[in-house]
Amino acid sequence: MTRIAIIGAGPSGMAQLRAFQSAKAKGLKVPEIVCFEKQNDWGGLWNYTWRTGIDAHGEPVHGSMYRYLWSNGPKEVLEFADYSFDEHFQKPIASYPPRAVLWDYIKGRAEKAQVKDQVRFNTAVKGVSFDAEGKLFTVTLADYANQRHYTEQFDYVVVASGHFSTPNVPEYPGFDRFNGRILHAHDFRDAVEFKGKSILLVGSSYSAEDIGSQCYKYGAKQIYSCYRSKAMGYRWPKNWTEKHQLLRVDEEHAYFADGSKAKIDAIILCTGYKHHFPYMAEDLRLVTHNCLYPQGLYQGVMWQDNPQLFYLGMQDQWYTFNMFDAQAWYVRDIILGHITVPAAAQRAEHIQQWHEKEQTLESAEQMVRFQGEYIRQLIAATDYPSFDIDAVNKIFMQWKKDKQDNIMNFRNKVYRSAITGKMAKPHHTPWLYALDDSLQSYLADNPQREAM
Ligand SMILES: Cc1cc2nc3c(=O)[nH]c(=O)nc-3n(C[C@H](O)[C@H](O)[C@H](O)COP(=O)(O)OP(=O)(O)OC[C@H]3O[C@@H](n4cnc5c(N)ncnc54)[C@H](O)[C@@H]3O)c2cc1C
Repeated sequence: MTRIAIIGAGPSGMAQLRAFQSAKAKGLKVPEIVCFEKQNDWGGLWNYTWRTGIDAHGEPVHGSMYRYLWSNGPKEVLEFADYSFDEHFQKPIASYPPRAVLWDYIKGRAEKAQVKDQVRFNTAVKGVSFDAEGKLFTVTLADYANQRHYTEQFDYVVVASGHFSTPNVPEYPGFDRFNGRILHAHDFRDAVEFKGKSILLVGSSYSAEDIGSQCYKYGAKQIYSCYRSKAMGYRWPKNWTEKHQLLRVDEEHAYFADGSKAKIDAIILCTGYKHHFPYMAEDLRLVTHNCLYPQGLYQGVMWQDNPQLFYLGMQDQWYTFNMFDAQAWYVRDIILGHITVPAAAQRAEHIQQWHEKEQTLESAEQMVRFQGEYIRQLIAATDYPSFDIDAVNKIFMQWKKDKQDNIMNFRNKVYRSAITGKMAKPHHTPWLYALDDSLQSYLADNPQREAM
């Protein structure tokens, strides 16, 4: 029987499991699927861990999420087309759920599909190689629950191990003598640690924006953020100052390119992540930066040099869960033979066209539309339920505007679902005052309003 290995049971790997299950539910014969997940539960980054550094098995900790993390985009832009939020929660909820609520939603669909028995938990993939003669992959595994290493062979491999876990860690002059803590966003877990402190965020993307907002919410005294090329430019609270380029630090201060300096207690490096697949043989390993159309992946998923290998979710992400779905259904239909894959030269040309188009994109709106169009084309080729991508693109633009209007208030806004057509319900407590991020508190109808 044909065998498929899925590496990782985060939202992408779970989408792949659900895609095959939906084909099976329609009476189609599907291959044997084994999903390998190094953590002890599924949900990927959404499965919170307090750990940093090394996990209980000596593997690098995958988690980069932190306590009190709330969705940084509206839930309406990521909603599964085959499983709405209303179906899962049985009532309308607000547009920016905390992590635990989104984790519950992701798990809900997979539990309904009853695919958990296809996942081998506590099992890390340590190696993947391909035998061109036998046309089979050999996957080397560390089964930590049973303390054994073993190998198995597969006809197809789907890499879904994410790309926001291996931190990109720059060094600045003086780091070795700084008196306070220096950490990467990957190791940030709890804003309360920085209550009453002055912190410096290095970077100007989502991590800096959100970790800084968290620290503000939980009582940081002073926040500095610094950028290399472009300021975030939001109207920050009074105790948040954006600085140009960090040049160096000494025991207590940071020095910036504009000649100013600031006294700081800690430095958080919000300097991004690396695509990192140490377990893949070199000829199978995706090498890319964070972009919308990684080179070498036909339709953004199929490894150009080996049509039996796929990567899911490797793009820079505006769209997330629904994009992983579109990809997973597409990969499924290639494997099932429902989609005909063109010859290598045509595939290369197709990749090149999308790559060149990406180079012309300048504005956020163009990038959102580009990714929306990519998803639209994938969905058109499969039976994944189609949804109004133009409406979702508009939500993205409204979200951008809401952030510009008030960066500490945007999470109080609500949007209309492109799947159900229904409006979200405003949350019972404004985000800035909602200090309890638990599922219970979020779903409660009449919680006590917390005081700051
Ligand atoms: C701090 C942060 C905040 C974010 N906030 C949002 C948000 O608000 N909204 C949003 O839509 N997206 C957000 N994202 C984006 C996030 O990437 C996606 O939502 C989603 O988690 C990606 O799913 P994935 O399955 O591709 O990867 P992941 O979620 O990273 O899952 C990959 C899985 O693979 C497993 N794995 C890795 N290596 C191995 C191995 N060798 N062997 C076996 N298993 C392995 C991991 O344990 C993990 O379970 C955020 C990301 C970060 C880092």
